[in-house]
Amino acid sequence: MSKKIQRGAAWLAIAATALVLGACSKPGTAPATNGVTVYSGGDILTMAGAEPAYAEALAVRDGKILAVGTRAEVAKAAGAGAAQVDLAGRTLLPGFIDGHSHLLNYADSLVQANLNPPPIGGVTKIADIIEALRKLKSDMKAGPGDPLIGQGYDQDMLAERRHPTAADLDAAFPDNPVILVHASGHMLVANSLAFKAVKIDASTPDPEGGTILRKPGGREPLGLVQEMGMYPFQPILKGARKPEVDLDLVKRAVAHYAANGYTTASEALVLGEKMPVIEAAADAGAFSIDVIALPAFTMAAELVGTGKIKWGEYRKGLKYAGLKIAVDGSPQGKTAYLTRPFLTPVPGCKTDCRGFPNLTQDQVNQLVLLTYKNGVQMFSHCNGDAAIDMMIAGHENAEKVLATPGKDRRTVIIHSQIMRPDQLDAYAKQGLLPSFFSNHVYYWGDVHYANLGPERAEFISPLASAFKRGIRATNHTDATVTPTDPMFLLWTSVNRVTREGRVLGEAERVTPYQGLQALTVNGAYEYFEEASKGTLEVGKRADFVVLDKNPIKVAPMTLKDIRVLETIKDGKRVYARS
Ligand SMILES: [Zn+2]
Repeated sequence: MSKKIQRGAAWLAIAATALVLGACSKPGTAPATNGVTVYSGGDILTMAGAEPAYAEALAVRDGKILAVGTRAEVAKAAGAGAAQVDLAGRTLLPGFIDGHSHLLNYADSLVQANLNPPPIGGVTKIADIIEALRKLKSDMKAGPGDPLIGQGYDQDMLAERRHPTAADLDAAFPDNPVILVHASGHMLVANSLAFKAVKIDASTPDPEGGTILRKPGGREPLGLVQEMGMYPFQPILKGARKPEVDLDLVKRAVAHYAANGYTTASEALVLGEKMPVIEAAADAGAFSIDVIALPAFTMAAELVGTGKIKWGEYRKGLKYAGLKIAVDGSPQGKTAYLTRPFLTPVPGCKTDCRGFPNLTQDQVNQLVLLTYKNGVQMFSHCNGDAAIDMMIAGHENAEKVLATPGKDRRTVIIHSQIMRPDQLDAYAKQGLLPSFFSNHVYYWGDVHYANLGPERAEFISPLASAFKRGIRATNHTDATVTPTDPMFLLWTSVNRVTREGRVLGEAERVTPYQGLQALTVNGAYEYFEEASKGTLEVGKRADFVVLDKNPIKVAPMTLKDIRVLETIKDGKRVYARS
């Protein structure tokens, strides 16, 4: 079967316009009699190859791509009785593959107060946080003892320019445990009742890889806890929800990802208490799109090499792709682990403030070795260059111990934000994969500029340098850290404009096509799914997104205005914009 592709055929747009004006049929209005659906009449961007390539038509049968090429070729392959879908000038491309985010956090956020600053939320001062929690309390009809949780506050965006404290919350909420999760997800503020519930007080030492900030002049908790200090609060964060409530929230989260054009979503840190939630959702058939889940390293001994779960295989839309470890924290929370210090004051630190690792080098080595030995993919969160050094060392150590240099492991270094060019060289040489986070440029680029200086800030999430080295990088929203919007993500990778309007790291801007590669074909590669996903090629799964405009052809600054009109998973429509 021919797969002849029309390269860069601008005339297609003209032809499509003619079709819109002519016989425009609504998608799926003429049912197939032979089980085949043919799409044509718009840009069909295949994402196969190094340059944009278009097909005139594409046919689907049994959830897979049957044919892609010219109208005549596809019509021949489709046979008589195929349903005809007129794209009416819209653009069809492979469904988005989520490089890294947290679907279950999105589900949780549906019953939490949104404490984000504009444009995501409306919080600009601590009083707004209190107000948002009061509203949540009333909306949820919370009684005494019921936990109140908010997420997304950012101390740099508050008028007070500091983290809230327990005292800020105690006066308004004396009868409810309150937890405010920071925008980074790497720290939280608790009120006194929440500290009491998890039995943390003046006598509690700081945990390994975490901090409990203290009131000035004493040891009473101030409110803020960082990194590993957050773990005791997990039972409160999860809340005591009924399984049917959890299932409903997960279904709403799946619908939200589908509405954003994702046909493969990520849940990149499944903690122990969330395993039953995600398993139950799969059992209940909640995953109309694929969900990649990464169990947390805290369950490594239980899950790796024990046969307790099946790694790397889908079951009812759920795949445990690999183990997730977190080597350090976040740059905006100043817990990212760096080789050179932050240039601005760091809470709880007096000298040589370079953040800190959550794990020791020995722990990293052991975890990497454990996964490699058992053929389990490793996903490692590293924001700072010192954390990345630890991960590269852990990788090299394991390859040496196992005598498997160059094995195709696709170890993913999530975020890879404050990295150095020599580390990108190491990635290229050793097959390590970065999943970048270009949204940081917009949301925290100005903060990074102040905290890190121009050289490091401009090299944040260096997508262009990675592409130049042939590295198959992905790009992610880390939702709920930033919104689940792939078009905004594409916009940040192409334009690298900050909140204040500066271009941060002009040399690291990518083309719209590269930006899309990071959201499609490279995502498939990240999860060892390139044989079935990521491009429009015969035999691959019919996972598509339909956009109102072609990202390759619009003005780059308007990329964020492109809308997802339809999402198709395995040939079935899972979202249509009404
Ligand atoms: Zn994350």
